[in-house]
Amino acid sequence: MGIVVVGSLAFDNIKTPFGEVKNALGGSALYFSTAASFFNSVSIVAVVGSDFNFDEIKFLEDKNVNLKNISVKAGDTFRWKGYYDFNLNEAHTLETHLNVFADFKPELTEDILDEDYLFLANIDPELQLSVIQQMKNPGFIAADTMNYWIDNKKDKVAEVFTKVDAVTINEAEIRQFTGEFNLKVAAKKILDLGVEYVIIKRGEYGVLMIDKYQRVFFTPAYLLETIFDPTGAGDTFAGGMIGYLSTRENIENDLRKSIVYGSVMASYDVENFSIKRLKELSASDIEKRYNHFISYCELGIKNV
Ligand code: AMP
Repeated sequence: MGIVVVGSLAFDNIKTPFGEVKNALGGSALYFSTAASFFNSVSIVAVVGSDFNFDEIKFLEDKNVNLKNISVKAGDTFRWKGYYDFNLNEAHTLETHLNVFADFKPELTEDILDEDYLFLANIDPELQLSVIQQMKNPGFIAADTMNYWIDNKKDKVAEVFTKVDAVTINEAEIRQFTGEFNLKVAAKKILDLGVEYVIIKRGEYGVLMIDKYQRVFFTPAYLLETIFDPTGAGDTFAGGMIGYLSTRENIENDLRKSIVYGSVMASYDVENFSIKRLKELSASDIEKRYNHFISYCELGIKNV
């Protein structure tokens, strides 16, 4: 069974301590689907403006990504402008222009309503709710969000969380959403909404997962020497995680492994701007880094 993702397709202007790009292809749905396409088929639900050139995402079609639910509307594509200082874990937003997303009401095509995996990438929570409503009965739904939506539509973000199995959220955002500094307490507040897995992205410090039984799983990030741009790392992580998970029988058994695959994909994303690095990857690159990752994470402690 394939994956459906709703999220942004965007043009990004980004500055990091290591360089700058203008009008780079971005958006939460783009990063997610690029990563997930290494594992399974993906359908993107999004909208773009008349300034969008589909040739730029032709490579996705070649990788079994269904683009039929990307609407084209008169107007401009979503635009985001942001920067990072030396704390690459925190994006600073300078401008958000929703443009054609401002009044987008998706109508999903019949052929994707039965898919089993749904990822609600960072986008207007009302749009996320509309997609949940249209899907027939997905076996696994995960949702992400961002400070912009917590600032502007917190009640709707909370409503989304009551309808999903997993929430992927970064450290600053879970603190903002719950008003709690302590991550365990903050995760508990989201679990109390009925979520089974809270997956907290901590940038270069890795990922912390707490489930509804208060079981904890923690992994570092893959340690890199060269990082250019963390944009999209969170969505790429989710794409790798859900992509891998969607090929497995049992979520409970394979969630930890899928978090490591997500971390591997995110580590590739940050090595260059936009999706440049992800586009050139092969399945064997991913396997190689996955195997290296799990071997160096071995603690090597013996209880004698
Ligand atoms: P990430 O770094 O994983 O949080 O995702 C970055 C991507 O999210 C960028 O490519 C942006 O275009 C996109 N983005 C930024 N702000 C928003 C927003 N308010 N809603 C949806 N997507 C956004």
